[in-house]
Amino acid sequence: MFRNARLKLTGWYLLIIMVISIFFSVIIYETLTAEVKRFARVQRVRIERSLLDANLNYSDTRQMYPPPSIPLFDPDLVNETNRRILIVLIGINTGIFFVAGGLGYLLAGRTLKPIQIMVDEQNRFISDASHELRTPLTALKTSMEVTLRDKKTTLATVKKLIAGSINEVNKLQSLSDGLLQLAQYQKPNHPIRFETLKIGEFVTEAIAKTKILADQKKIVIKKNIAEVQVEGNRYGLTDLFTILLDNAIKYSPLKGTVEITSSQNNGFVFIDIKDTGIGIHEKDLPFIFDRFYRADSARTKDGASGYGLGLSIAKKIVASHKGSVSVKSKINQGSSFTVKLPVKNK
Ligand code: ADP
Repeated sequence: MFRNARLKLTGWYLLIIMVISIFFSVIIYETLTAEVKRFARVQRVRIERSLLDANLNYSDTRQMYPPPSIPLFDPDLVNETNRRILIVLIGINTGIFFVAGGLGYLLAGRTLKPIQIMVDEQNRFISDASHELRTPLTALKTSMEVTLRDKKTTLATVKKLIAGSINEVNKLQSLSDGLLQLAQYQKPNHPIRFETLKIGEFVTEAIAKTKILADQKKIVIKKNIAEVQVEGNRYGLTDLFTILLDNAIKYSPLKGTVEITSSQNNGFVFIDIKDTGIGIHEKDLPFIFDRFYRADSARTKDGASGYGLGLSIAKKIVASHKGSVSVKSKINQGSSFTVKLPVKNK
């Protein structure tokens, strides 16, 4: 598909360059031949005048040998010069055609490269998403079919199936919400409204959003952050800290502690979210920000459901704020995620 588009684009580049080149070649040809004609006319007038002075006529001199000292006007030479100009211009245009064709092909490749990367990325996203959606949907369908076919199905089993299905549907809903969120932050120029915000505002909002989960696990969230301002999108930054806090709680044991602290350096604010949870294995660390990646320890952790989308969304949000997110973790000791954002001076 991209090969065809590249050839088409090269064709367009070539067409534009050749139209310009031929246009100017025609002008050059017309100007030069007019100039040669003018030169010949002037030369002819001069010769005739000299011959008149010498009492000879032009056709006489053409038969004369050896020729007189005055230069003779030769119309064949004019035609020959015009032909040569034409050949040189055709040669130049042929050269331009091949050079422009080669350069156009390279340029078309470069122009299409980012589009190709984007389309490949989108295709991968669609196939990953459909794969993730397919597994729970198949499980749901199978259990429904089995219950339907079973002649001994009672009302109680149906109720149990519906309850289980609702659970699965809820998970699917959170997966589709995550996918939508990721797609939204993935748009290259997606319009987000930026405003000046105190970091305390969105961190407090994220804590409030994750409070139910923290309370369920009797996890204490300690907050110690400075009054620093950043330029950002309120909803995006709240989503970012909700994801990080949600993970910190999800991957911590009962009665754990999650600490949020901040520090400042070189025009940046660093916000740390530190937990005392299961930690992340060194081999998983390079991949946890990849879409749909889940460490084995997370898969086997009770109640820690997820689809591996949170951190990839988090990464997109910080990138749209010209910041970064990093992680330090030790297995069975806990993890510490650090968000770095540019400080907005008052
Ligand atoms: P998930 O929905 O699985 O939590 P994320 O993208 O948020 O997806 O996280 C990706 C993986 O990174 C998780 O599956 C887990 O293995 C690991 N992870 C993220 N945060 C933590 C944490 N605070 N403690 C331990 N592991 C974590």
